[in-house]
Amino acid sequence: MAKSAADVTSRRMVGLLGGTFDPIHHGHLRMAEQLADALRLDEVRFIPCANPPHRQAPQTPAVERSAMVRLAIAGNPRFVLDERELQRAGASYTIDTLLGLRTELGDEVALVLFMGSDAFVEFDSWHRWQEIPELCHLVLVERPNAQMTESLRPALQSLLRERYADDTEALTSCAAGRVMIRRIHALDISATAIRDDLRSKRSPRYLLPDAVLEFIRQRKLYL
Ligand code: ATP
Repeated sequence: MAKSAADVTSRRMVGLLGGTFDPIHHGHLRMAEQLADALRLDEVRFIPCANPPHRQAPQTPAVERSAMVRLAIAGNPRFVLDERELQRAGASYTIDTLLGLRTELGDEVALVLFMGSDAFVEFDSWHRWQEIPELCHLVLVERPNAQMTESLRPALQSLLRERYADDTEALTSCAAGRVMIRRIHALDISATAIRDDLRSKRSPRYLLPDAVLEFIRQRKLYL
């Protein structure tokens, strides 16, 4: 949704969706589309993670996971592929990605990092996690079967208490620093289930874009 001339602020709003995208699926795409609308974002950058520090290395090489993202977002003018993590060696830390984005985009752009509720419960184990909210807003998205519980660790409860924002204006009024929880109509799709389908010779059709499935078949991925 484009901003109207009557909007109070003209701050550019950039959403960030990092992930292993092994493979990208309609759960990711719907989440990004709904948040782009709800938060009136100018663009959403899909940032494939080259070497995830918090989970097992993906089987699929980063260049192929990235190629699948490119196919999946083709034709959506708000969606952009950002390959900066593929260009760095070593663990792909979000803090480094954010520092790079700030250098490229400047301090005025609002950066809005999307995070599934499943990822947020572990956020306080991320490298230099306390600096992350200084560089971007966080938007926490509840995924099916992964409700955020009251058993969040104390450091994360404090983060929520101190930075909590409940309206979109709070995100446009500054470039970083707020934490919002958004409920979306999340699709119960995971890359794990898609890989299981493919390994078991079941069809994952309609869970991910046809072009991505075609790429998977051509490259014989997830056998
Ligand atoms: P896997 O099953 O391999 O763990 P995944 O489907 O969770 O993969 P990721 O690439 O790890 O996909 O996810 C990237 C981001 O997208 C994470 O923040 C994750 O919480 C979120 N996400 C993934 N699937 C969905 C979905 N169906 N709805 C909303 N958010 C999702």
